Amino acid sequence: MAQIIPLAEGTFTVDKTKIFKPFHPESDRLQDRPKGSLLIEIQPFLIKIDQAYILLDTGLHLEQDGEPLLYQVLRKHHIEPEQITHVLLSHLHKDHAGGISKRLADGTSVLSFPQATYFVHQDELKYALSHASEPDAETTHYTGSSYEEEEFELLFHNNQVVLLDDAGYIEPQIRYALSGGHCPYHVVFWIYDQEETIFYGGDVAPQYLQLKTRYIAKYDYDGKRSMELRQQYVEQGKREGWTFLFYHDVQRPVMKLI
Ligand SMILES: [Zn+2]
Repeated sequence: MAQIIPLAEGTFTVDKTKIFKPFHPESDRLQDRPKGSLLIEIQPFLIKIDQAYILLDTGLHLEQDGEPLLYQVLRKHHIEPEQITHVLLSHLHKDHAGGISKRLADGTSVLSFPQATYFVHQDELKYALSHASEPDAETTHYTGSSYEEEEFELLFHNNQVVLLDDAGYIEPQIRYALSGGHCPYHVVFWIYDQEETIFYGGDVAPQYLQLKTRYIAKYDYDGKRSMELRQQYVEQGKREGWTFLFYHDVQRPVMKLI
């Protein structure tokens, strides 16, 4: 049986400066946050199947006590960064891919998970690199985040990285498909374990409630496509009993639709 561990990094506010600031729902008052800022929950997932430790997206590029925040979240679950075998990236916006690397004391960066193979769509990587220095237009995520250039250089010509094409299997139990929608080369994943199908829709299906209504989101590259995909995932997911994982939903991270 697959073990699913949501790795909540917390809730953040983000405004025009595109800097994510921790927000504590128990003590911080919503009305005190900067005007025009958005509240966003960030939550990668760890799926453990047999000997595989599969990380779904990597969270923000945040450090705490001199190490990546995600290391600390993993350790709460008694998992060491060296144990991660697969890093699956839905896309490279910085709230999903910020944690791919960490900075060393000498100022250079290395991939955060030394034993893992990273999987990213080949065109998403090219797109991210060519759009990194453009601050607005279609690269702007609804969080105000965009692509962070220097980190992506690490993904090129790295024997720890496998570049994905449009659909296929990473392992017999891990399937992926190019979805587009949120950004042109967004990828979604299915993980199969015995009778279970786990579905990770990244930012095409980021929150449980977003599957309940039909809407076109302004922050999507192709909002109509995202809406149609959600509809499709909901129908198939209900029929086949998928377990959905929601990256931006700390309240309801793991749900089956009925
Ligand atoms: Zn996101």
